[in-house]
Order: sequence, then C-alpha cells, then structure tokens
Amino acid sequence: MTNKQKTPGMATRAIHAGERRKPPQGIPISTPIYSSATFLYDQLETVDEIFAGTRPGFTYSRHENPTAGALETAVAALEETEVAVAAGSGMAALHLALLAAEVGAGSRILAARDIYGVTYKLLLEVFGRLGVETRFADFHDVGELGRQLAEFRPQVALLESISNPLLRVADLPRIAEQARSVGARLVVDNTFATPVLLRPAAWGADLVVHSATKYFGGHGDLIGGLVLGGEEYRQPLRLFAKIVGPVLGPFEAWLALRGLKTLPLRMERHCANARRVADWLADHPRIARVHYPGRADHPDAVLARRLFPPDMFGGLVTFEIRDAGRDQVFRFVNSLKLCLKATSLGDVQTLVLYPAISSHRDLGPALRQRLGIGDNLLRLSVGIEDADDIIADLAQALG
Ligand SMILES: *Cc1c(COP(=O)(O)O)cnc(C)c1O
Repeated sequence: MTNKQKTPGMATRAIHAGERRKPPQGIPISTPIYSSATFLYDQLETVDEIFAGTRPGFTYSRHENPTAGALETAVAALEETEVAVAAGSGMAALHLALLAAEVGAGSRILAARDIYGVTYKLLLEVFGRLGVETRFADFHDVGELGRQLAEFRPQVALLESISNPLLRVADLPRIAEQARSVGARLVVDNTFATPVLLRPAAWGADLVVHSATKYFGGHGDLIGGLVLGGEEYRQPLRLFAKIVGPVLGPFEAWLALRGLKTLPLRMERHCANARRVADWLADHPRIARVHYPGRADHPDAVLARRLFPPDMFGGLVTFEIRDAGRDQVFRFVNSLKLCLKATSLGDVQTLVLYPAISSHRDLGPALRQRLGIGDNLLRLSVGIEDADDIIADLAQALG
C-alpha cells in the first residue's frame, strides 16, 4: 500500500461528489427549488444559535424551507399581513389556522352554514372528536349572526369571503365588527376571492387561509395552502407547523410562487371572461338563473361593488338550467368539449362542477334544496381562454 491519499470508494463518491458547493456569486433571479431536508453550517455554534432562535437560518425543512419561505413572503406581501406560513394543502392550512387560534377541548366555533364541505368535516369529525363544539349560522343575516354570537360565545368565527357554489359575498367589515364585539377571532378562507379582489386582514380578519391549489397555483398542477396573520400569530403558526408537520414541499412551493407572478393578470382575465359568460348565460332561454356577484340580480351586488376593485367580481359563475334534472345536466356536461368536467377551480382552463354529485353530494337532496343548490345547478370556474370559445362551447352543449 502506498501513502498517497486513497480515492474514496464508489459509494462514497456517488453520495458526496459535486454536492454542497458554495452558493453561486450571482443571485438567481428565480428562487431555486431547495430540495434539501437539512442544512449545513461550518460551525456547530451557528446551528446552536439558529435552534436557540437568536440567529436566522434554515436547519430542517419541516421547520422552514427557503423555497416555501419565498412563497410565504410573496403571499404575505399580497395579503398585506405580517406573517404567512405555507402548508401542504388548503385543508392543512385551515387545520393550522384553528390550532393557532387556540382551538382546543371546550372551544366553540361558529362557522358559516355555506362553508366548504371538507371544512365542515374538519370541524365536526376532527375537531369535534377532540371536544370542540361547532355550530353553524347564516353570516349574511346580521340578526342571526348577532344572536348566535351572543348566545354561543364562540372563540372563533369561520367563514369564506365568497361562498360556494352560490357565490355569496361576506360583508367582512360588518362581520369582523360583530365577531370583535364578543371577542371571537375571525378566520376567513379567501380562496375564491384571492387578495386581488379582497384582503380580509384589512377588514379585521385575524387569520386568513388559502388553498394555493386554486388561483395561486392557477395551472391545476399542485396542492398547497397558506395561513396568514399578524405578528402575534408568527410563533404559534411556526410552532404548530413544526410539531404537526403539514409542510409544503419545495417543488409545490416553487410552482405556487411561479403561479403568483401572473395572479393579478390572470384574475383580470378570469373576471372579464366570467362577466361575459354570466351575461351570456343570463340571456339564454334555457338558463333559469345565473348567480354572479357582478350582476345586478345577485343578492350581494351592491356589497361586491363596495368591497371589490372596479369591474372585478371573480372568476366563478353558477347557473341553473331551466327545468333540468340530473339526466339533462349529465347530458349537458357530457357534451362540453372545451370546458373540462373536473373538480377544483381557479385554473387557467375552464372547469365545470356539478355540486349535487360532488361538493354537496353528502348533504342529500332535501338539505341541498333548502340551501338553494338544486339538481339543475352547475358551477363554472371560468378560465382564461378566449371568452368567445368558452361561450361557443356552452352554446353547443345547451343546444
Ligand atoms: C379547495 C378548497 C379548500 C381546500 O383546499 P385543498 O388545497 O384542496 O386542501 C378549502 N377551502 C376552499 C374554499 C376551497 O375551494
């Protein structure tokens, strides 16, 4: 054997060669995908300081990750909040928000009756089993909300800024004031509106939640979520994210960050297209009713004009086919060629959803009818294709 330095073995080379280069001199103009579970420092003292919280830095990607961090900074800038924490899905974000709002055994939550179906289940089947009591109220009814808040004294009031599928707009300034008067924290799911239309924190929401799967990503290629709030929520959000571990992977964070760059641009087009589609549908003899907050016949038309930017009323349009039952609705949806019959919303593609068999299936026909969600009702997430093509597709399928 010679004393010349021994070349590392094949396995060692395969594992270490080329890795852990110093970051390049130039700063990448686009945040890279930091697909690294853990982070390395020259001195153990540095790691000690980071764990102690006396020095910023990344240690482990369940705690914080640079790509997710870039997304968090960007969304906080759009929602104009101090803090954002990314989560693996919109549902994980809602769960995290409720933990950060100190929901626990004996807590009471008052939720909007028209909340997203899975949120219903999160409240009843997950938090319910842990000793949290949830009641539901119509947040559009000032009197009912006031009575329920006064009687039930919830720690948390939870609602969506634009509801599904009837697209009711929440009067956030009024609701925030009502919640504050009984000391309830207000949690707002702002997925349908996006910060382009509405920033709930500015109206008094304590925590804002997003499914990044929808308009933030915008291309139907990721699942993700975010929770936003004021400085007082930084510590609890980070702590629960770290302990429970609902983190967003760096690749999904990167996709969402990329999507965000065109969010304002896409929203303009979504809104303009939705407006045209809504007006066209309303004039069609086979359509009984259109629900769109930008139309004068919507119950929240005046409120929407007050809360949203000029001529922006969202990308969703809900409509009812005249005298149609399941069979006619199936035939209509099956005839669509451009509009995709897929769950979800907020994508560049136009998506059509039949609530009676999907989002509101479990409610049963009687309750659906009572909520105004008939078997003839469809929800369209209007994409950013050419509006004429979307309309032509709807026309041929209605024909
Ligand atoms: C989709 C959605 C969610 C859940 O988000 P995921 O990313 O699918 O977990 C929550 N709230 C609203 C309003 C949604 O549309």
